[in-house]
Amino acid sequence: MKDRMHELIDILNEADYNYYTLDNPTITDQEYDKYMRELIEIEEEHPDWIENDSPTHKVGGKIIDSFQKVKHKIPMMSLSDVFSESEVYAFGKRIEKENIHPQYVCELKIDGLSVSLLYEKGKLVRAATRGDGVTGEDITHNAITIKTIPLKLKEPVDIEVRGEIFMNKETLAKLNEIRRQNNEPLLQNCRNAASGSIRQLDSKVAAQRKLDVFMYHLPNPLDYGLNTHQEALDYIKKLGFKTNPNNRLVNSIEEVLEFIEEKTATRDSLPYDIDGIVIKVNGIKDQQKLGFTAKYPKWATAYKFPATQVLTKLKDIIFTVGRTGQITPNAVLDPVIVAGSTISRATLHNEDYVNEKDLKIGDIVSIRKAGDVIPEVVEVIKERRTGAEKDFEMIKTCPMCNSQLIKKEGQVDYFCPNENCPARSVEQLIHFVSRNAMNIDGMGDRIMEDFYNFGFIKNITDIYHLKNHEKDLIRLEGYGEKSVSNLLEAIENSKKNSLERLIFALGISHVGEKTAKILATNFKDLRTLQNATMEELVSISDIGDIIAKSLIDYFHDEKNLLTIDKLEELGLNFKYLGQEVNEDENFTEKTFVLTGSLELFTRDEAKEIIENLGGKTSESVSKKTSVVIVGANPGSKYQKAQELGIPIWTEEEFKDKINK
Ligand code: NAD
Repeated sequence: MKDRMHELIDILNEADYNYYTLDNPTITDQEYDKYMRELIEIEEEHPDWIENDSPTHKVGGKIIDSFQKVKHKIPMMSLSDVFSESEVYAFGKRIEKENIHPQYVCELKIDGLSVSLLYEKGKLVRAATRGDGVTGEDITHNAITIKTIPLKLKEPVDIEVRGEIFMNKETLAKLNEIRRQNNEPLLQNCRNAASGSIRQLDSKVAAQRKLDVFMYHLPNPLDYGLNTHQEALDYIKKLGFKTNPNNRLVNSIEEVLEFIEEKTATRDSLPYDIDGIVIKVNGIKDQQKLGFTAKYPKWATAYKFPATQVLTKLKDIIFTVGRTGQITPNAVLDPVIVAGSTISRATLHNEDYVNEKDLKIGDIVSIRKAGDVIPEVVEVIKERRTGAEKDFEMIKTCPMCNSQLIKKEGQVDYFCPNENCPARSVEQLIHFVSRNAMNIDGMGDRIMEDFYNFGFIKNITDIYHLKNHEKDLIRLEGYGEKSVSNLLEAIENSKKNSLERLIFALGISHVGEKTAKILATNFKDLRTLQNATMEELVSISDIGDIIAKSLIDYFHDEKNLLTIDKLEELGLNFKYLGQEVNEDENFTEKTFVLTGSLELFTRDEAKEIIENLGGKTSESVSKKTSVVIVGANPGSKYQKAQELGIPIWTEEEFKDKINK
């Protein structure tokens, strides 16, 4: 483990140099943060191993000689970071443990570089970068080109004020356009662009870069008779500095979380990049009581947004066989957290897709996942190839049954032609019981694979004979009496499903959920559908030749007809039962807003439940909100819901509605 610690120190020190000194990062911030977390964990486990040059104790990077060095009167520190709601709570708890029950100021974490501006009798005398926190670089010649940095204040005070220099997204886009035309390397992001611009020796270049600034910190507010951070912000604004209009004073950690939710949802519409939210204890006396570590204040922290695009290694490409025999290449990835969930697989669709992206095994690839979007491999980072990567090769035989694969003319996908291919059967079975098909609760993919491998279920009719194996099932590891009886009950209940579910569950090519519904409403009975002619089928709007042909083929296959007969004998309903009464009428198509701290669920769990029951969640209360669910210490959303007369549920009520 000590070797790993040294390896991490080397990686992080090298990254720091590239990022801070050269403004040219070679790894992503997420990779950096991941390594940093790993190093912190090792150091926490082995405090006696900690070395002086550990990046966990250092702020920023090395200073280069081209600039005059300046010593900060008060060190410029970094910020600790948190990555989840529960870590934000933990930050609040640590503060409460000190018997402090603070107000907090929530601020946007502007993605630029920090600057210290020094004024004597109201006149700017020096601007400096943070550098390593103790010593920075004098960048006065460039800072004075920034229009929002006042050269003279409204009062003739001696003062140091700190803030963030940044570049607007639009400015970066224009700059990169010009660089592209001139065949110059593009600037990676707003932060690097701002940092690179402010650290130019020629101030004419900096002036062209149209930098901007938000000021957010007064290092010694008590000296100016100011007792809170909010008062300090108001004061510096009055002196003529630009402060961020989104800053908000709040009364609890719950309100901090609301701010985070709100800004996470709207961050893309800001004209500049932010990479998180900074949370600061408002009272200066409270701040002093909490103090500092070697690297950051204990009275503030930065919540970092989950990345929606990250880099990881493509470890392998494996092939799966779908229920129609279709072969799909899949990326096996080094697990990474993207938009809050761990991703280790992503579909690569087909051979052409892999070749177009020029993927090789061992490549570093960027992965995207936003909201509900399934993870996607965006591109290869070719600069990070080492030469050891292996070319991708499409397989020629089925990975499950070894049959020679076929590719129909004009199509991109390969198929396993073996109808009895085990992979194909399992996929068909998984589809049959899935939520939108027969909706058999408790029969997930893994369980179905187990039952297939144990030989309990080989085809769909076996599902309805599973009760004959009840005793065997109870004896299986992980399946208690209760869960087996629930499962068997769910199977029995599924017999009563309306026709559209059964049509979809049969897995007829080209018949998706929507088509199944159209067929069910038009034919009302599976036997009538079975006997429908091509003309009858295509006369229905939305049913074209391809679907009609597929249905005719399906219902002319003896094997399928035998299955249908058996399903009827087993007592499955073949009739359309009319508009399905939605069991979750409390949730379907409704928009929910959560506020306050929930005790029975995490916010993510509550959101998932709502979505699974057909509802949506939103971050802010408006007239369109259907229900507001309130936990303990609710914030302003609760008030707003009351004002707008929106139905309000307690957490208990929410639980009751779910159980129903
Ligand atoms: P940080 O960026 O995580 O947080 C501290 C900084 O936030 C402050 O110094 C200040 O500049 C800025 N900030 C913006 N808005 C603020 C506000 N309203 N109030 C207070 N501060 C505000 O810390 P850091 O030490 O500057 O950088 C560390 C981070 O930089 C890492 O977590 C990583 O994400 C990134 N990094 C990346 C690489 C890389 O190679 N990709 C290398 C080094 C660092």
